[in-house]
Parts: sequence; C-alpha cells; structure tokens
Amino acid sequence: MVQDPVCHMNVDENKPAATSSHKGKTYCFCAVSCKERFDKEPEKYVEETGTHGKGCCS
Ligand SMILES: [Zn+2]
Repeated sequence: MVQDPVCHMNVDENKPAATSSHKGKTYCFCAVSCKERFDKEPEKYVEETGTHGKGCCS
C-alpha cells in the first residue's frame, strides 16, 4: 500500500484510481479528484522527507 499524498488514504499501488508523476516519482491516488488537486499544486502535497538540513538555504 502507498499513501495518497492529497487525502492521506492508503491506496493499493496495483490498482489506484489515478496516478501522476512528479519529479520522476509516481504518486497514486484514491480518486481522480485527488489527482486533479495534486496536479494543480503538486508542491503543496509532496513532502520532501529527509531534506531537512540539506536544502540550499539551510
Ligand atoms: Zn485521495
């Protein structure tokens, strides 16, 4: 299972309702409406885990 980045529901990656690619990574969504929200503002939903302290401005 993977997590829908928009609503944080668990999604079966083998049969997601929708998928979208962002910066080379594929995200799975529970519904097309979640994908549409993601596509509008992907940066809002993508959590760059592990980047704390490694950013260009830190
Ligand atoms: Zn969702």
